[in-house]
Amino acid sequence: MSATVPLLEVKDVRQSYHKDSSADLLVLDDVDLTLQSGEIVGLLGRSGSGKSTLLRIVSGLLIPTAGDVRWRGKPVVGPAGGVAMVFQSFALFPWLTVEENVELGLEALGVPRAERQNRTEAAIDLIGLGGYESAYPKELSGGMRQRVGLARALVVHPDLLLMDEPFSALDVLTAETLRTDLIDLWSDGKLPVKSILMVTHNIEEAVLMCDRILVFSSNPGRVAHELAVPFPHPRNRQDAAFRELVDDIYSVMTRRTAKPATHTLTSTTESSFATALHPISTNLLAGLLEALTASPYEGRADLPALAQSLQLEADELLPMGEALQSLRFADLEEGDLQITTHGREFVQADTDNRKLLFASSLRANVPLVAVIRRTLDERRNHRASAVRFREELEDHMSPDYAEDTLRTAIAWGRYAELYSYDEEVAEFSLEDIEHEG
Ligand code: ADP
Ligand code: MG
Repeated sequence: MSATVPLLEVKDVRQSYHKDSSADLLVLDDVDLTLQSGEIVGLLGRSGSGKSTLLRIVSGLLIPTAGDVRWRGKPVVGPAGGVAMVFQSFALFPWLTVEENVELGLEALGVPRAERQNRTEAAIDLIGLGGYESAYPKELSGGMRQRVGLARALVVHPDLLLMDEPFSALDVLTAETLRTDLIDLWSDGKLPVKSILMVTHNIEEAVLMCDRILVFSSNPGRVAHELAVPFPHPRNRQDAAFRELVDDIYSVMTRRTAKPATHTLTSTTESSFATALHPISTNLLAGLLEALTASPYEGRADLPALAQSLQLEADELLPMGEALQSLRFADLEEGDLQITTHGREFVQADTDNRKLLFASSLRANVPLVAVIRRTLDERRNHRASAVRFREELEDHMSPDYAEDTLRTAIAWGRYAELYSYDEEVAEFSLEDIEHEG
């Protein structure tokens, strides 16, 4: 029987977060997923689509609001044995050495001391940390720290390795080295795991590493598409077939849906206020609009091509495109980025007029910025603490997303000269800003 039972089955899973001041936020709905021994599966989706939430459910850290999660045919009711997780940020204990950090996972399992030491040593060697056993995390580069995170997950010989954007905090080269090392170990049968489920928002990374890719839709998150990646390892990013698959996935991910891709809430009155913003600098946005307008694109570009010509990682471009779309400066459709009339106006304007155009787009399209400015206009002293905006955002999204969203509103509003922001006291004001009254 065991040969036919999948490692993992997720059926009709739904997750909503209960928020005090509004209706529940539905994050996952009707999620189905089956994982077999021997495969690497990628969960690919935009930020905020619920990928991390699903991983936490799979690991047993979070019990879903509804639905069924089975591990080797048995319901998961708490942290599952046989599953280990690697996080985006390294989550190492700073006061423990590399060796101690890695061994930690085994102590919890009650493995005898001698075996713990053997397995720790083996995991450290396997993942390329030999010689760093007694180093402390602060002495290591980001790449080495993430290797410690991997070794700590592998040392328990989990049947299923879960990875939540494990390479996204690393620089491009380090990330690529780590990906290739991991795939080499996997292909050589040296990883003590049966299956890997990895979350990413990086399309190329998914195509590079996975046997199967599940494309997540947002609002609520569900598996919208499934694609097989039929290429043997090692894979070459430049192969025509590789590029074609990347292109197809871009199309799937930018396909127009009934409503724009925002964090939708069940209560419509406040929904727009709670749209998460991608922390992207106005410089980058302007540069992207300029490149898009110029030759050879002349206003419409294939996303992967545009990413390459701007020397951007493919995964960096999609959120930028989404930001431009939310500002109505460009549209995303079928894998292309298409400039709008507003976008063209912006590109043609001089510095001062760009600020004005950005300001009017913000006020029309980014309710958070509009609310901040309105609050400042209405107050006698034209000041407002950031705390209340952060708290309001946290009613609708996780603290991380709230922080990113607030930082973005600060940066964009400052550029547009809609308000000033004093970091020291965390306060918005209209100091040095032109305004009535
Ligand atoms: P992803 O990993 O795809 O970026 P997440 O699973 O982290 O997405 O989050 C999905 C949505 O759920 C986001 O809108 C996020 O703000 C919200 N969310 C996540 N965790 C919480 C939480 N503990 N409380 C409230 N909202 C949350
Ligand atoms: Mg996440």
